[in-house]
Amino acid sequence: MRTTLVAGNWKMNGSREMCNELINELVHTLDGKCKAEVAVCPPYIYLADAARALKGSEIRLGAQSLCAEESGAFTGEIAASMLQDFDCSYVIVGHSERRLLYGEDDTLVARKFMAALKSELSPILCIGESLEEREKGLTEQVVERQLRAVLDVVGIESFSRAVVAYEPVWAIGTGRTATLDQAQVVHAQVRGMLAEEDVTIADSVRIIYGGSVKGANAAELFAMHDIDGGLIGGASLKAGSFIEICMAAG
Ligand code: PEP
Repeated sequence: MRTTLVAGNWKMNGSREMCNELINELVHTLDGKCKAEVAVCPPYIYLADAARALKGSEIRLGAQSLCAEESGAFTGEIAASMLQDFDCSYVIVGHSERRLLYGEDDTLVARKFMAALKSELSPILCIGESLEEREKGLTEQVVERQLRAVLDVVGIESFSRAVVAYEPVWAIGTGRTATLDQAQVVHAQVRGMLAEEDVTIADSVRIIYGGSVKGANAAELFAMHDIDGGLIGGASLKAGSFIEICMAAG
């Protein structure tokens, strides 16, 4: 039985005040009332405030990225051990914005995934095709390449602590959600690939969907056989819409 995970990726939005208010409202409304596991990923600079506000809460803390290196002369970077210092449980790796805007390739994503595991964080590995790739019929190939790049380096056992997020790039921030069938087909394909290595691990790995999830479509997405929750961008920035998505689980 896989527990639904709903994770909010706040990206580079808001202010210290907004983050604190949002977290307080989520804690107040969701603790003890939500069947899903809920996580929030604020900007790095607000992790300390968030960790304090989440003490004793069921809501988990996550980061949006990390450095692949353990420590040293890497100006501007944040190590996995530092995220652990602030009680992070999750860290997003391979988000399409990191891949497209900051040139993170499959090799670097695999190294970040490994760095997360070494510090006992659960990586949320984002994979997904662009619109052009989908229109050319390359979705399966792209998703397989992105997953293989990590799987072949870290091994299937490492996935017992990981989450996979299928995020079609054309659905991120566009208001255009994948249809239930489009999403389910890819989720089943991902689980099938993991099952080729280990059926038990494949069965237990949460594969969440991301791309314009909102209150109105969350319940039907989460009800699909291989969709185990959501990675939520825009709709995670307002307490009301994020709470509606979290409550749609289960
Ligand atoms: C995301 O960026 O991970 C995402 C899913 O964004 P949105 O929900 O805004 O499409």
